[in-house]
Amino acid sequence: MNRKKSIEAYHEAVKYIPGGVNSPVRALRSVGENPLFVKQAKAAHLRDVDGNRFTDFCLSWGVFILGHAHPQVNRAVRQAITRGTSFGIPSLQETELAKQVNRHFPGMEKVRFVNSGTEAVMSAIRLARGFTGRNIIIKFDGCYHGHADHLLVSAGSGVASLGKSSSAGVPSDFVACTVSLPFNDKEAVSRIFREKNGQIAAVIVEPVAANMGVVLPENDFLLHLRNITTQHQSVLIFDEVITGFRLSAGGAQQMFRITPDLTAVGKIVGGGFPAAAFGGRANIMTLLAPDGPVYQAGTLSGNPIAMTAGTETLRILSEEGFYEKLEAKTNPFIAGLKESVRGENITLNHAGSMFTLFFNVDKVRSFEDAHKSDRERFARFFKYMLAHCFYISPSQFEADFISIAHTERELERFVKTVDRFVKTG
Ligand SMILES: *Cc1c(COP(=O)(O)O)cnc(C)c1O
Repeated sequence: MNRKKSIEAYHEAVKYIPGGVNSPVRALRSVGENPLFVKQAKAAHLRDVDGNRFTDFCLSWGVFILGHAHPQVNRAVRQAITRGTSFGIPSLQETELAKQVNRHFPGMEKVRFVNSGTEAVMSAIRLARGFTGRNIIIKFDGCYHGHADHLLVSAGSGVASLGKSSSAGVPSDFVACTVSLPFNDKEAVSRIFREKNGQIAAVIVEPVAANMGVVLPENDFLLHLRNITTQHQSVLIFDEVITGFRLSAGGAQQMFRITPDLTAVGKIVGGGFPAAAFGGRANIMTLLAPDGPVYQAGTLSGNPIAMTAGTETLRILSEEGFYEKLEAKTNPFIAGLKESVRGENITLNHAGSMFTLFFNVDKVRSFEDAHKSDRERFARFFKYMLAHCFYISPSQFEADFISIAHTERELERFVKTVDRFVKTG
């Protein structure tokens, strides 16, 4: 495969942009590759600057559940642009999307839009602290909640593959109020609530973890979090930036029938534009400025173009049978993958239309388990898939995604390619 132009583009980019990228995982360092420079994307496909065509299983980190450049979303966006691209003054589009989010996530009684998942989570945490008057935040190892200072503790995603449990430039005082516990460890949660009685502002969790690879909650883990936070009057925050509108229209909270106090959504909700939201119980949300004392703001927040793309995307997702159709694509695919990796010392974790193949481990139910994976074999796997025109998420600690635009033939070809790799690589 000729990737000459991507390599040239990379050499040019590094002159001006640190690492040549605006988000670290894109540099493909953990898989020992040069970054890909994309020229265009359509449905389930990417085309790079060299003209190579890839079937995309990363989908801008799960954003494009409808596939890239969906015609209906694009049409709405084109019309919206002619009316102006930002006002800094309220517009009807914001209420429209807020209504839609609330319809799917009834627990998000009130919603505020921001520009990224990082911002959504950061604001939700500030709000939880403002509401409870307490400082301590409980998170879980391998869960990623964006790059806000106090959440970069045992974080997943790009931080995980950098092999850092935290980041330089974060004063230890900033993370002194963050406690990170093993995912799925109910006893550890009970213990910390006993030790820090009356000091815990919030528990934040990815209800299905996707930033250490896909890891499912087990044995009523989420129910335990719900019960213990209620009992101690702490705020339960679900970070559904990936799982929201992915696992179901109402995210993981609909799937597991557990309503958190606050929820962050992102990725899909922006329809391919920089938008995210946080929301929850009205009595907590009203503490936000201008109603209350917790400050939060944004020049481009509620941007009309992003709101339009999000609204149009959610409109399509709300159509009768959308998730059933996605599931009908996903089920045989997952079954095929399972068959391919059977007896090969590979674990396939999946939830709805997201999945991760963990190399050379039995079972992955925590970050510690995920870390036992053979990352060199994963790197070989990534290169092999790329050489066969599949772009998968470029780290062992990320999820892969299926969109409604993937065809059965492409999915079958993916399974066959995995099968060949497993038998030979
Ligand atoms: C992607 C992600 C974030 C951060 O969102 P950005 O838009 O990248 O800032 C936060 N939490 C989870 C669970 C995510 O997957």
